[in-house]
Amino acid sequence: MNKNHLDGRLEQVRMQYNLYKKRPFDINITRGIPSRQQLELSKPLLNALDLSDWMSEDQQDIRNYGGLLGIKEARRLFSDILETSVEETLVGGNSSLQLMYAALMMEMFTGESPWSKEADVKFLCPSPGYDRHWSILERLGIQMIPVELTGEGPDMELIEKIVSQDSSIKGIFCVPTYSNPTGETYSDEVVERLAEMHTAAEDFLIMWDNAYVVHHLDDEHEKALNLLEACKKSGVPNRPYMFVSTSKITFPGAGVAAVGASEKNILRLAEELSKQIISFDKLNQKRHVLFLKDTNNIQQLMEEHAKILKPKFVWIQSILSAYFSGERKKFINWTNPKGGYFVHLTTRDGCATKIVDKMGEIGIQLTPANATYPYGVNPLDNSIRLAPSFIELDKLEVALEALCICIELVTLEKYGENFIGGN
Ligand code: PMP
Repeated sequence: MNKNHLDGRLEQVRMQYNLYKKRPFDINITRGIPSRQQLELSKPLLNALDLSDWMSEDQQDIRNYGGLLGIKEARRLFSDILETSVEETLVGGNSSLQLMYAALMMEMFTGESPWSKEADVKFLCPSPGYDRHWSILERLGIQMIPVELTGEGPDMELIEKIVSQDSSIKGIFCVPTYSNPTGETYSDEVVERLAEMHTAAEDFLIMWDNAYVVHHLDDEHEKALNLLEACKKSGVPNRPYMFVSTSKITFPGAGVAAVGASEKNILRLAEELSKQIISFDKLNQKRHVLFLKDTNNIQQLMEEHAKILKPKFVWIQSILSAYFSGERKKFINWTNPKGGYFVHLTTRDGCATKIVDKMGEIGIQLTPANATYPYGVNPLDNSIRLAPSFIELDKLEVALEALCICIELVTLEKYGENFIGGN
């Protein structure tokens, strides 16, 4: 690129952007929620109950109070997903986030040595990560320490070093399979090191949010190792709490969530939950068992989801790689996940906020730049999350074309001079 070329190109992109500005869009791709078409897949769930049989396998009337650990058949189904035993599994209401919050509240305020009695309580936050995890920690006054993700989980060398020295670091939040938003899956080595590492805090916890454990987009499936088994092997069975839910299998607002942990932790959590609720919705648990049946059947349902989702991910790849080729290659990097709900963009430093703002000005709402970092603070200002699941394909195409223009405009305005001479 030479100076004339740069000026000419900048003029062209500015013109295109101004055209968008004159006729703004109304497109929202901020949150990763299933599309209506995906929700239709689970319609039969609503009529799955046998209205003449209200008893669960463990002889609970599913219409009544009771059974805070979940009905036996639901515990079995979720234990198959979590790879735990039935005793190591508690089935709750419709939100895994709520179970995470309950588990952390319990550690903060109850038991023999609640964390809140200590001067500092800190958590490791593999970043970019899931903003709602960071919101829970912030709400509970737990300090967040960002840790870089490597493409196969967090930087273990750094983690091992700091957790062995600082007893105020009480835990870590992980999304081990098709992580939100980077799409990476933790390697076996990372899982083993998390289970084996020495921690100065004896009550160190791993919040293992396996929200995307069955959410494959490809025939080739990725899956993180079973953390509870690894922790049992290394003598720390109470270290992990593992979460899943059917929010993106059936209905986000009316699904079922579960937690897997040592039997001791499950009983402790149930006792804590009993102060908040008499029983979860067992009718919905039963409905889900009758509809989802087993892990093979869940896999088939997820393949139907993938048929709807995958074209959107393919579209993103083809538009971005067609646009950012040749001398524009250096403008941006992006992920090509094999599952999950997101594509993550790494912009040139200092460009992400401007790009998202520019998109907002032409009526396309993206997740706020860097929201995936603790406190929303990312000194590099280079992180954008794309959540393509809800939007229709034709709108996604338009949004992406506009995104390419915004990325080029902001990057050329900030770094254009650097590209002169082919740098
Ligand atoms: N964890 C992760 C990593 C998620 O991406 C989401 C949904 N966006 C959730 C949890 C929410 O789970 P639930 O609906 O079970 O509370």
